[in-house]
Amino acid sequence: MTDSSGLSRRGFLQAGMLAGAGALAAGALAGCAPRAQEAPHPETASQEAHTYWLGEEPTVADADIVATRDTDFLIIGAGNAGMMAAGTASDLGLDFIVAEKGTSVGDTREYVGAINSKYTLEVADPVDEMKVLNELTRYASGRVDQRVIKTWLNEGKEMIEWITPIMEANGKTLGVTPMEADHPAGGTYYFAPTIEHFFNPTYEYPMRNDILEWHIQEAGHEVSYNYDLVKLDHDGNRVTGAVFATPEGLVRVNAAKGTLLATGGYAANPEMIRANLPLVPACCTAASYSPRCDGYGLRAGLWAGGVKDVNGAPVIFDRGAVPAGVDCGYVVDADGREHFPATHYQLNIGSQPFLKVNRKGERFVNESLPYDTLCNAASYQPGGVWCQIFDGNAVDDILRFGTTGCAAYTTAFMQMGMPLDDFIAMDGGTGLMQKADSLDELAGLLGFEGEAKQQLMDTIAHYNDIVESGVDTDYGKEPHRLSKIIEPPFYGCWFGGALLTTLDGLRINEDMQVLTADGSVIEGLYAAGDVSGCFYSDNYPEYIVACACGRTCTEGRHVARLLAGDLA
Ligand SMILES: Cc1cc2nc3c(=O)[nH]c(=O)nc-3n(C[C@H](O)[C@H](O)[C@H](O)COP(=O)(O)OP(=O)(O)OC[C@H]3O[C@@H](n4cnc5c(N)ncnc54)[C@H](O)[C@@H]3O)c2cc1C
Repeated sequence: MTDSSGLSRRGFLQAGMLAGAGALAAGALAGCAPRAQEAPHPETASQEAHTYWLGEEPTVADADIVATRDTDFLIIGAGNAGMMAAGTASDLGLDFIVAEKGTSVGDTREYVGAINSKYTLEVADPVDEMKVLNELTRYASGRVDQRVIKTWLNEGKEMIEWITPIMEANGKTLGVTPMEADHPAGGTYYFAPTIEHFFNPTYEYPMRNDILEWHIQEAGHEVSYNYDLVKLDHDGNRVTGAVFATPEGLVRVNAAKGTLLATGGYAANPEMIRANLPLVPACCTAASYSPRCDGYGLRAGLWAGGVKDVNGAPVIFDRGAVPAGVDCGYVVDADGREHFPATHYQLNIGSQPFLKVNRKGERFVNESLPYDTLCNAASYQPGGVWCQIFDGNAVDDILRFGTTGCAAYTTAFMQMGMPLDDFIAMDGGTGLMQKADSLDELAGLLGFEGEAKQQLMDTIAHYNDIVESGVDTDYGKEPHRLSKIIEPPFYGCWFGGALLTTLDGLRINEDMQVLTADGSVIEGLYAAGDVSGCFYSDNYPEYIVACACGRTCTEGRHVARLLAGDLA
């Protein structure tokens, strides 16, 4: 890897600052500013309505480039896909640059799905890979490329078996979550294979991306921080690298073998969300996404000739706790920025299948539906929100419900014996979760008045009758997920969805090469993780637990192995 400026990174930074190149970059990047455009009316400009958020590709004059760097493999984004690609490239001796717009690696996503690794086979029977393939396809109503999914199915185990010793060498220990393959939820059964890997202690520094950064540093590499993608360099059907805005000015990176977009999804871009995922504002109150994931990398891939999945695929969890009276949808802050109204990240107990009612006090749904399915159903209710109500027997109920995936976070603390109130406080529910000695008082605290309050009381009485009978004749919830509301203290909290990320992205083939509209390959351009598509549609298949990060890590590693000649 060479810097054509001939300067070390530190010297390069200083030289750039002396030259006042930041101002130069700002001028050269005028085309980067989001264009203030109104959405055309869908009926009069349907095609444009789908892409008005794209904007125009910035133009960069060669004279404005302050430095040029050359490498074999350019990785854009030091998140989950990017750091796996970097660690792999480092091990395989592939010359690379990893360029990151932030000042640290992206947040590690802790739970990683991989099929039939040697670790899962120690605790569970082999998983039928074809069943996973077809289950994912069913979740997406077929709007996938099964060949892309198969890359994860085939190579996920190799990925996790590669990263595990690296994690262990840095003090982490591997865990696997055994699953009940036929998982009851929403009155039916979902396929829930044992594929989830994680590293203990979870959510504690150092995490996987930190350790991968150390790993590449030990081999003499570093992440290039403050490298904000401006555009991909492309000529015809070929990408040759990219231009970045840096504190020193515009830097061009030439990539001889390939450029990997690993820039994540677009959850932090309300304009793209509204255009591609119109249901999200109708069912979300909370932001659990990384603010860095603004969809710019996806737009750059489209400017270079790529095409995007037609259908959107959000990841929404049913944990966006809000005070009474708050609706789903964006609000605008004093600086004119749009965001979701919740001040809280996620209140995990929201995923427990307790009684849920709408603002009219009516039960409207089978509460044990998967996270996003419940949020989608709530979007048909006033304000898109629902109120979850339970009683003083909640701990026993939670232990009996047997939720899985990250909903089992609450269960784990109950199993450890943590008092419920302590858990709610620890999870940030103070002031959001209401508690009262009588249902009448609770209803008042939750904002129910008049007819709605009476309806709530009637709904609870009817629900208690259903529980007593053992059969949910209204919505078919599993008997073990029915729980009476009779024992003080009583609890209640309003919820909407929490948006985590988006999974619809650039069309790719099984080698993660970005495709054009006619299906041909854009030479030199790859996409991995949430910026890439062909894997999901409409939802996140949450009972194929951790398949998002699993495929992300596998795809990132695949591209590095491919370019290093490590794949047969
Ligand atoms: C809170 C949360 C928890 C999650 N937990 C799990 C889990 O446990 N298991 C699971 O399977 N899935 C999980 N997911 C989903 C998972 O994060 C994603 O599916 C995926 O792993 C994201 O990886 P990525 O590499 O695509 O993007 P990211 O990890 O977000 O990385 C993108 C990187 O690109 C950088 N970048 C963006 N734009 C630019 C630019 N213009 N120039 C330069 N750099 C740029 C960003 O700064 C960031 O570092 C979770 C998601 C969230 C939000």
